[in-house]
Amino acid sequence: MAFPNPLSFAKRLLYRPAAPISAEVRARIVHHESSGVAALSPDSEETVAGGALAGEEPEARRRRSRSKGHGDRPAREDGAAPAREFTPGMFGAIPVSGELHAALDDMEYLNPSPIQEGVIPLMKSGRDVVGQAQTGTGKTAAFGIPLVEKLDQTLNEVQAIVLCPTRELAMQVAAEISRLASYCNLRVVCVYGGQPIAKQLEKLSPPPQIIVGTPGRVLDHMGRGTLKLDKVRVVVLDEADEMLDIGFAPDMERILRMTPKSRQTTLFSATMPTFIKRMIDRYMRNPEWVQIQPEQATVPEIRQVYYEVAQRDKLRALQALLREWGEMPRALVFCKMQTTVDRLANDLQRGGHPVEGIHGGMTQGVRTKVMAGFRSGAVKALVSTNVAARGLDIPDVTHVVSFDAPQNAEEYIHRIGRTGRMGRSGLAIMFVSELEDFDVLDQIKVLVGADALARENSAIYVAK
Ligand code: AMP
Repeated sequence: MAFPNPLSFAKRLLYRPAAPISAEVRARIVHHESSGVAALSPDSEETVAGGALAGEEPEARRRRSRSKGHGDRPAREDGAAPAREFTPGMFGAIPVSGELHAALDDMEYLNPSPIQEGVIPLMKSGRDVVGQAQTGTGKTAAFGIPLVEKLDQTLNEVQAIVLCPTRELAMQVAAEISRLASYCNLRVVCVYGGQPIAKQLEKLSPPPQIIVGTPGRVLDHMGRGTLKLDKVRVVVLDEADEMLDIGFAPDMERILRMTPKSRQTTLFSATMPTFIKRMIDRYMRNPEWVQIQPEQATVPEIRQVYYEVAQRDKLRALQALLREWGEMPRALVFCKMQTTVDRLANDLQRGGHPVEGIHGGMTQGVRTKVMAGFRSGAVKALVSTNVAARGLDIPDVTHVVSFDAPQNAEEYIHRIGRTGRMGRSGLAIMFVSELEDFDVLDQIKVLVGADALARENSAIYVAK
């Protein structure tokens, strides 16, 4: 028998069977009610496309899965491959269709995570849901699974729309839903800015059942009449607080108003700023709340340290840390400005480190290539602005470096949440140099506890 892949093995350990809902999970899930009504009125702006992902190849998947042997029927006499049989099963305590069960099996999702235990049954029952959880908790599948189970595969109309703050997150979410839908006849199309619109237009006709996209591009397609949302049954606002931060609030509202009032609305957000609460009241109907207590701020797996380093010494300080570590770790390095990203990535590359920069000023093609390199491991570290790194699920990041301090404590939590995921250990480092950095440092200490964030001395300031 092959030795289990360490990652999937870790996942198995993390996701122990969930008897109805474990006491530990129940303690972390808070349900409460709020009320609200739906509204309406359209609008649009912005531009272009994305690429179709899964869905279209269920037959190919079915054929490939046949060779794995599970559920196969004996070969037919005419030589045609037998159709695979799917048997409904359980995902923890949640009953799932055979097709979904097979996909979950392929993905090695053996048991639901807490947010999945909370959200999936509610979404399946048709309730509006507010999920308060960070990325890394499994929230994509928490809404992806009910979508795959609920939508009508026989109808070529857009039945669900998932809005995400960034292109990268949209692509990641679309890819995950596509994998969940591997054995279904559902098409998932991702629409985001920065890709030729013609490419996307092809994918939108006939309409896919699921659209995942960034609000600007979705509105653009709606304005062109290439995307109609009048048959939408489910809307998912993923990382709603991030969409608000990026300035997508009016776009989110416009899109919501273009969908039928009868829709099911679900919203996921790590934080609940006032605007998001207002949106919940205005656009959601008596939503059920599933709150997974934020763990990142106190996760013991993440060691948090900061260095007081003069602005001009930051590069040297980082190089000193790299010498200490021996090699470039799987790191995300955050900078405030795109120009700093470019400069730092260059400096590190010149030092022989396999790093790349990523920011919103780059073409989509370059960003996609950089992300692919990072995921494959060819690129060990990514130097990034906040926006480019938002919500990305990069499971094995071990180091998060705030080369420039974050603007506020919440941003810090988002950053350090990129490591220590799924129970792995991580190191979060912050350079504090400007006066305002010290204010942010104080805020962070309030949030995470002064003891959790240790001050260390940079080697460059230690007398030789
Ligand atoms: P997300 O919060 O959706 O970005 O998911 C974080 C990570 O958890 C991703 O790598 C997922 O593939 C993984 N994941 C999500 N749900 C499960 C599950 N039930 N079992 C194992 N891994 C999961």
